[in-house]
Amino acid sequence: MYEMPCNNCGFCCLIQLCKTAQQLYGAPRNRRCPALIFEGNKSRCGVLVAAPQHLKDQVSRNIGAGEGCSISAKVRGADGVFYDFAKLPDEVKLGLADRQRNGEIEVRHRRKK
Ligand code: SF4
Ligand code: SF4
Repeated sequence: MYEMPCNNCGFCCLIQLCKTAQQLYGAPRNRRCPALIFEGNKSRCGVLVAAPQHLKDQVSRNIGAGEGCSISAKVRGADGVFYDFAKLPDEVKLGLADRQRNGEIEVRHRRKK
């Protein structure tokens, strides 16, 4: 379980494929997941939505549904300070996801060591 709850802003899936998505869709990893669905400003995982009933629990576990906000991204504020995305207020997360969908945010991915 992660410290902060997930509010389904979708930011994580807008910038990077989870392991399940990597297996399904392949490289590159750092991109919007093709399975990501938005209903208004709330996201859903299309893989979970489409999974047959008997596989939903397994898919939920694989994508970490219900475990809280797992994103490790940092956001540079106007003050130059880097903040943990996961700990931002809900409305800020939703607003940033909206801006990301509109291509208004520059995302830099750390190199894997
Ligand atoms: S498969 Fe689902 S949880 Fe994984 S990145 Fe895509 S939308 Fe997100
Ligand atoms: S960034 Fe965090 S709060 Fe937003 S959908 Fe991903 S896990 Fe949930």
